[in-house]
Amino acid sequence: MTMGRDGFRLVRVLKVVATLLASVAIVYAIWQRLAPRLEGLPLRATTAKPLDVAFQRLTPREIAVLPVAMRFDHPLGSEHGALTYDAQPFRVTRHLGDDLNGIGGQNSDLGDPVYAAGAGRVVLAQDVGGGWGKMVILAHRLPVENGQVVSKVVQTVYAHLDEITVRLGEVVQRGAEIGSVGTADGKYLAHLHFEVREGLYPGPGVGYADVPMNRVSPTRFLYENRGAPDDLLNAAPRRAAAEVEVTRQPARLKDQKAPRPEPGSPQ
Ligand SMILES: [Zn+2]
Repeated sequence: MTMGRDGFRLVRVLKVVATLLASVAIVYAIWQRLAPRLEGLPLRATTAKPLDVAFQRLTPREIAVLPVAMRFDHPLGSEHGALTYDAQPFRVTRHLGDDLNGIGGQNSDLGDPVYAAGAGRVVLAQDVGGGWGKMVILAHRLPVENGQVVSKVVQTVYAHLDEITVRLGEVVQRGAEIGSVGTADGKYLAHLHFEVREGLYPGPGVGYADVPMNRVSPTRFLYENRGAPDDLLNAAPRRAAAEVEVTRQPARLKDQKAPRPEPGSPQ
């Protein structure tokens, strides 16, 4: 009987040991399966990876402090666009902008100053590579009739720049120099790819598409938003707006597809 009791005890101990061993084996198996997936994750859940640039959106706070652009001017040559021509207009060969050139053609406009078309805030200023090269995007708030200001936001896009002379987050006034005409690192003859976009997503996007997407004709936009009396100045930045620090992170471009240039034509 004593042996029997000891035998039961041994069986119970063995059961416990077996259960423990099985538990360890299961945990180990799960760990083996999950470890490779966990490796790529940040140590703490709060250190989220930055959103893909395609999903970056102007925040309500950024929109609230965007400068109101009372009028727009041409970004190259004179404020009325003298000394320039449009080498590839909007929607020609699926183009989403205007390709502005100095009247000398070829590379004669290389290094010429590029101006902010209207008062705005720099929401992208970096070399985005691909067919774009160095790019600046300004976001502007538009005034509407009767002095009422709404949150309609447009963006002006300046691509293939030789140099960028503004910083991300900076507020610029209409006519301020924001960079110079370039070749997108030798990909094209020097010209300025200029776009006007509606909406709140300041990613590089694409320069060609079958449909206009959120782009509007830059020529038409400038025509409709210029011609204000020369003494109509931009509203002074509101003090509250000037005090709000808006810090926008540079766009993350690692996984971004390069814009697809039309074969044989400048972007
Ligand atoms: Zn272009």
